[in-house]
Amino acid sequence: MAFTLLEQPDIAPSGAQNPLIDRYGRQITYLRVSVTDRCDFRCTYCMAEDMQFLPKRDILSFEEIDTIVSAFVARGVKKVRLTGGEPLVRRDIMQLVDRIGGHLGAGLDELTLTTNGSQLRRHAVGLARAGVKRLNVSLDTLDEKRFAAITRRGRMTDVLDGIDAAEAAGLRIKINMVAMRGVNDDEIEPMMRWAHGRGFGLTLIEGMPLGEVGIDRVECYLPLKELREELGRRFTLERANYRTGGPASYDFVKETNGLLGFITPMSHNFCESCNRVRLTATGQLYMCLGQEDMVDLRVAIRDGGRDALDAALDRAMLLKPKGHDFVLDRTHTGPALERHMSVTGG
Ligand code: SAM
Ligand code: SF4
Repeated sequence: MAFTLLEQPDIAPSGAQNPLIDRYGRQITYLRVSVTDRCDFRCTYCMAEDMQFLPKRDILSFEEIDTIVSAFVARGVKKVRLTGGEPLVRRDIMQLVDRIGGHLGAGLDELTLTTNGSQLRRHAVGLARAGVKRLNVSLDTLDEKRFAAITRRGRMTDVLDGIDAAEAAGLRIKINMVAMRGVNDDEIEPMMRWAHGRGFGLTLIEGMPLGEVGIDRVECYLPLKELREELGRRFTLERANYRTGGPASYDFVKETNGLLGFITPMSHNFCESCNRVRLTATGQLYMCLGQEDMVDLRVAIRDGGRDALDAALDRAMLLKPKGHDFVLDRTHTGPALERHMSVTGG
């Protein structure tokens, strides 16, 4: 059944020599790498219209990223996701993809990407050749005008063409949709029917208060717990035994024969099984999307090489917080953190 399309076992704890285990006994097996904070879109929930980007001279080189990834893989990381900003807008990005793809089968089990899809058409075959097997593509609507309004500068046809190209290249696809009240909440069922009809998973995401973006986040906030209950009255939702150690829970939808994920950072705490850390494009390692704790790996590799890098990873494990504490109500309308999602890497 289509259920198996996305099914994969949990990322198994690794038998690495010196695994990365935090104070709460959680083993880090998943690294997200933001390869750039830049993007060709300006999604209203993610970025401000007049976004200021990091100076290019501060961005890690591909060699530095690969050094850091190698250190993580040696310490038991099994999965790497490239993200951003938009990973596919970084110049010569395929060189990095090929380089990290070289770790597959040599400690690394999976290399994947989260992308807005705008550049997928020209990169899909290269990604597949480098060993990428599946992608998350962000798409919040199937309405062209609405797409232009949400992304402020994207063209939906580019993304749909990119999705077609990725599918033709044999990549499995999961669609990420930020669910927003009054913006795209009327499209949840059509999006699910479309995604499942094409054999893609659909994951709904609650908007998080990260960075000043100029929209009213409280007004747009759509609690997914309630949405799931409401969908459950119209569809047969069966809890799926599919976990990624992350924030999402998945249902198998009987009528549409596909997986529906819910990422609920605002209405539900998902941190007990958190197995991931996030590297910014300038080399800061954040242990949690919703907290400020970080170690600077760029300083470690530039000043002290591999030993300093390993020591920094050990320090990082002591800093990983138990969980985030996002709050969103009328008394907390500003961002929980100044840092935009595009900096930490979604
Ligand atoms: N540009 C790529 C993309 O859009 O897929 C990768 C980076 S983007 C920051 C990663 C994911 O984060 C996307 O699915 C996006 O919809 C989501 N995202 C961005 N800002 C968010 C926010 N404030 N709350 C929840 N999700 C957000
Ligand atoms: Fe760019 Fe992705 Fe943020 Fe949209 S969500 S502005 S595509 S980084």
